[in-house]
Amino acid sequence: MAPSSIEDTDVLVIGAGMAGLSAAIAARDIGASVIVLEKAPEAERGGNTRFSNGAIRAVYHGVEDIDALVGGLSAAERERSEFGSYSREQYYDDLARVTQYRSHPDMADMLVENSRDTLFWLQQQGLRFLPLYEWQFKLPDGRIRFSGGSALEVYGAGEGASEALFRTAERRGARVFYQTKALSLIDEAGRIAGVIARCDGEDIAIRARRVILACGGFEANTEWRTRYLGPSWDLAKVRGSRFNTGDGLRMALERGALPFGNWSGCHSASWDLNAPDVNELEYGTVFKRDDYLEGIVVNADGERFFDEGADIRALTYAKLGRAILAQPGQVAWQIFDKHGAARLHGEYRVKQSARFKAETLEALIDQFDGIKRDACLATVKNFNAAVRTDIPYDPGKKDGRRTEGLAIPKSNWALAIAEPPFEAYAVTCGITFTFGGLRVDGDCCVLDEGGQRVTGLHAAGEMVGGLFYFNYPGGSGLMSAAVFGRIAGRAAAQAALANTVESHGAN
Ligand SMILES: Cc1cc2nc3c(=O)[nH]c(=O)nc-3n(C[C@H](O)[C@H](O)[C@H](O)COP(=O)(O)OP(=O)(O)OC[C@H]3O[C@@H](n4cnc5c(N)ncnc54)[C@H](O)[C@@H]3O)c2cc1C
Repeated sequence: MAPSSIEDTDVLVIGAGMAGLSAAIAARDIGASVIVLEKAPEAERGGNTRFSNGAIRAVYHGVEDIDALVGGLSAAERERSEFGSYSREQYYDDLARVTQYRSHPDMADMLVENSRDTLFWLQQQGLRFLPLYEWQFKLPDGRIRFSGGSALEVYGAGEGASEALFRTAERRGARVFYQTKALSLIDEAGRIAGVIARCDGEDIAIRARRVILACGGFEANTEWRTRYLGPSWDLAKVRGSRFNTGDGLRMALERGALPFGNWSGCHSASWDLNAPDVNELEYGTVFKRDDYLEGIVVNADGERFFDEGADIRALTYAKLGRAILAQPGQVAWQIFDKHGAARLHGEYRVKQSARFKAETLEALIDQFDGIKRDACLATVKNFNAAVRTDIPYDPGKKDGRRTEGLAIPKSNWALAIAEPPFEAYAVTCGITFTFGGLRVDGDCCVLDEGGQRVTGLHAAGEMVGGLFYFNYPGGSGLMSAAVFGRIAGRAAAQAALANTVESHGAN
């Protein structure tokens, strides 16, 4: 169904990802009328949320929280798992550490303090959760010790999250218009009163008492990536939706909104070299190549360029894309021996993978296009010789089994690349989402350059600035989208209904 030019609503949400749909549901819960505009056609709806792995980071108080959130753990799951807990302090600490203490305290507070409650709220909205067994510590007796934070994943991953949210939003009476792209804000004497949107080649005005921008960052906009993130970012591959091109940010900035946060920063990961320039739903996350902890990574000069064992994967993977993009040719190779390869996750096995295999290291490296072969061989040999074999290898914790004497150490889980057959995977930078956004207050109202509210305008999700800098704790994207979306939806609905009452009163 297409919107008509006589549409008028309490709350108008731009974008139908986790942030937009959480906002729509929260606004309907208070009784506001809601319209959601989605730029994508219905078949491609759901933004980055739909592409995501569904890992979600929240405060939890222990096994009882996990039990309640998954709807009853089996005896086998309880037996197999040490869930531990994840406190507010740990969440603050992880967020602060990986963002080099730049995450703004107001934004961090909103995310952390609302995370646990929002997880239960999402469950009420129809999302189902499972223990996230991937990426946790593996104990010698086969049990799993949760490393904190992202203890759960959404059943059905991003697809499951997206479907559940659409179902609930529509059942509660939110109207969603597809292939309807918001172009600009309607500004009436300083108050945002709706948007101009393009649908079927026609520009129409949709009026609203409150507008919530939830239309993602600018990760899929090649020109903006180069402009804000810098040289070479035009060459990054897009891991998610092609529709997040910074439209909402542009609209808000044109209206004097305050840019906020890490505009030169983004979430970017190790991504298969064979992936398309912009991802497609049929591929989902098959190109993710996050198992660098199991081996070493070299560039075209044959050199290692980061510490593969610096920390657990959830706290390091989101800055690796940038590191790879800075290498010659924007390419790198992950190298594993027989044992490392045996621990790789399933997506490494897909047919599109840029995979190499050989019985000797020489024969393996000979297949890498453009590599300095002898330098690479020397790197592997030096790495092997530098491994502290006196420290036991232990995937059940940060084991401190490290290299000694290398310019770039591997600080944990260092094992020699020694036993054939050898495997390698060519990787490049995959951008996930951008960190630069808008300044919002505690109601997710957008603030202008003077620190005043832009009346009638809210923002949520990837559009909120000030939370993530340089890096990010895995599972926080979906959680921040839900937390800020829910707050924006509630606040917008309350304000819209108060306006309605006021104007009825005046009549
Ligand atoms: C491959 C991948 C894996 C990920 N895995 C995880 C994970 O496991 N855990 C985690 O926490 N996070 C993960 N993320 C990040 C997470 O998906 C995002 O942070 C989160 O979904 C953002 O939600 P959002 O609602 O802000 O944006 P989105 O879900 O991207 O929604 C934005 C919507 O706005 C629409 N839109 C854009 N412009 C307009 C316009 N002009 N008019 C109307 N509509 C518009 C888009 O079509 C889109 O539907 C992953 C991301 C990717 C790409």
